[in-house]
Amino acid sequence: MPPLKQIAEQIREADNFLVLSHVSPDGDALGSMLATGELLDALGKKVRLFNESGVPSRFQWLAPKREILTELPSEEPDNLIVLDCGSPERAGELIAPWLKTKNVYNIDHHLGNPMFGTVNWVEQRSSSVGEMIGMLARKLGVPLVGLLGEYVYLALISDTGDFCFNNTRPETLEMAAEILRLGLLPGPFHEQKQSTGTLNQLQMRGTVLQQARLHADGRICLIAFTRELFDKTGTGPEDTEGLVNTVLYLNGVKVAISLREEKQGIKFSLRSKGSTNVQAVAARFGGGGHRNAAGGTLLMDMELAKSTMVQAVTEVLEGA
Ligand code: 5GP
Ligand code: MN
Repeated sequence: MPPLKQIAEQIREADNFLVLSHVSPDGDALGSMLATGELLDALGKKVRLFNESGVPSRFQWLAPKREILTELPSEEPDNLIVLDCGSPERAGELIAPWLKTKNVYNIDHHLGNPMFGTVNWVEQRSSSVGEMIGMLARKLGVPLVGLLGEYVYLALISDTGDFCFNNTRPETLEMAAEILRLGLLPGPFHEQKQSTGTLNQLQMRGTVLQQARLHADGRICLIAFTRELFDKTGTGPEDTEGLVNTVLYLNGVKVAISLREEKQGIKFSLRSKGSTNVQAVAARFGGGGHRNAAGGTLLMDMELAKSTMVQAVTEVLEGA
């Protein structure tokens, strides 16, 4: 039986769900999780939401009506719905024991998902997990209206870069159109989503852009966020979001690399144009993602991380 049908049938019969998504959630992780909460609500199910690292400040405007737990609930759920996690580790450390013992629905769209669920629905072609939850809602006869529509829309625009990336399919736009027909106003929605910046953030990003460097004959652009700069400007990791896409669109650049100093090691984000596969680069260093967007962590200092990443990406560009 196709996994969508199987999951829809099982969800209809089951109850007591914990819905969760990956640590440091992005718009797809949060959108798909909140949308699943609304969907299960509409079906009259008991549902709780969990994300080990909570809601980042740039998403505070979402003001979800249901708390997003950052600790496991004392009353155990029967079913876990794990969203947007390309591997079980992405869900965090707290949930790890339950991933082994509960009924797990693994709903995801990453390359190389190891199918860690009891039921696995992994659709690499899907723009976002939010799009998959929209399909599940349709299958279960729940319209994409109100908050359910907003959350699916957030997931769609987040993972497709406002419908610009390669993963934007006709089906994606049809789902967006359906949500607009059911009442969502894109203008106010985007305004709310985008109006979260601060002057400090803008100026910190300006400094990072000033220090951007080209490598491999202009085919790679690298930007770096250091702790020192965060401290000096009163900003943090949260304020780095999306800048890697800005430098990807320089003329001639094929791959953008963004490096960010963390408490432990360097978080890297890779973006590529066309057929250049950055997921393969990320996977080499224990990370993952998609062909055109991937990430991971390097346990080394910033200078070594720069040369390591530039070399690994150059090898991919040269087809080595
Ligand atoms: P970002 O660069 O925005 O953090 O992530 C881009 C893509 O790579 C996303 O699909 C994200 O899920 C994936 N990704 C980012 N960091 C990691 C990581 O540490 N491990 C894995 N497996 N995937 C990651
Ligand atoms: Mn996603």
